[in-house]
Amino acid sequence: MTSKTNLTINPQRLWDTLMETAKFGGTPKGGIKRLTVSDEDKRVRDWFKAECVKLGCTVEVDEVGNMFATRPGKRKDMAPIAMGSHLDTQPTGGKFDGVLGVLGALEAMRTLVDMGYETNAPIMIANWTNEEGSRFAPAMLCSGVYAGVFTTEFAYSREDRQGITLGAELERIGYKGKHKAGSIKFQAMFELHIEQGPILEAENKMVGVVTGVQGMRWYEVTVTGQESHTGATPMGLRKNALLAAARMIEAIHQVGMGHLPGVASVGLIENRPNSRNVVPGEVFFTVDLRHPDDKVLDKMEVAFRAALPKIAEDTGVSFEEKCIWTSPAVKFAAPLIECVRNGASQAGYTMREMASGAGHDAAYIARVAPTTMIFVPCLGGISHNEAESTTLEECGAGSQVLLNAVLDYDRTLA
Ligand SMILES: [Zn+2]
Repeated sequence: MTSKTNLTINPQRLWDTLMETAKFGGTPKGGIKRLTVSDEDKRVRDWFKAECVKLGCTVEVDEVGNMFATRPGKRKDMAPIAMGSHLDTQPTGGKFDGVLGVLGALEAMRTLVDMGYETNAPIMIANWTNEEGSRFAPAMLCSGVYAGVFTTEFAYSREDRQGITLGAELERIGYKGKHKAGSIKFQAMFELHIEQGPILEAENKMVGVVTGVQGMRWYEVTVTGQESHTGATPMGLRKNALLAAARMIEAIHQVGMGHLPGVASVGLIENRPNSRNVVPGEVFFTVDLRHPDDKVLDKMEVAFRAALPKIAEDTGVSFEEKCIWTSPAVKFAAPLIECVRNGASQAGYTMREMASGAGHDAAYIARVAPTTMIFVPCLGGISHNEAESTTLEECGAGSQVLLNAVLDYDRTLA
């Protein structure tokens, strides 16, 4: 039943395809500007559709432009196994973020067709609309609609800076499909993606076996002291809001250090009045706490909240703090994670388990179907940047592990 097949993808063909489609919205600096449902996006969608049709796939589009290309399997009664990501990019995006997940899946599909390999379940490639969220906020919009997180009407009503709606643009480029969002079903989804962080490269590992997406919580803190003359106010009599904020920032850093691999960051700070000879009277700053486990994230929140009153008391200031946004941790499906692990070891790649630090379509899809992700390294951990770089070998490894994992899962269906 578990007869091993050795279907080998063609890394050079994948690379050539990545470079060929990078011309749809290609930038002089070697990146891609392919905003969702733009003319460039239409061109890559048309190209993708034609390639899938050439492979004998049926291509369907749902009402929010999500594309599904399906190759039949032996079992007509079975829902497909999906591989998917996104073909849209940031305004100064790279050639790999999202694109690798779709084209790596296309390479896997081409390999199945070349070898005449018949799977038990149908195999599907999904291209999710507006993952990036840079033209129409929020990000991961249409995988979110698929998963029931957002309504179709909400998605249609999103406006870009020119006041053009997503609904109107879908209509204009011919990708407002007839299928209800969420009605095109699959039984599992694997998403291949570049890591967008530095861990795999730093540890010299080829494959990230992604176990979930970190939980995230955002807070805002306002510290109030008293503005006074820097020359005339003795050190012992100051209510220095910036000093308090500095100690709070250090304490928040320690919250992250104390809960690794959790991360705790202060990324935005406003100091008032921000004058060289005034003791600062008010400071506003943001806090971003993340951890793969919501229970540990609870502890991080407790530690963060416990640190502030003591610092405020020591420095004679008051403060207000509120949580403004939370996103629960996502745990990917254990059987699928196991398929990725098997797929990577079958191909002989080094690997490590990790949680995703960024959001992905897979995070929403995980709410409605067993889902997991595969990461490959990207140079310096840099993405959302025209300089984004992943090698032919790394792209090939990702596509191979994707195919191996899908076939490993498919074998369990026999
Ligand atoms: Zn992406």
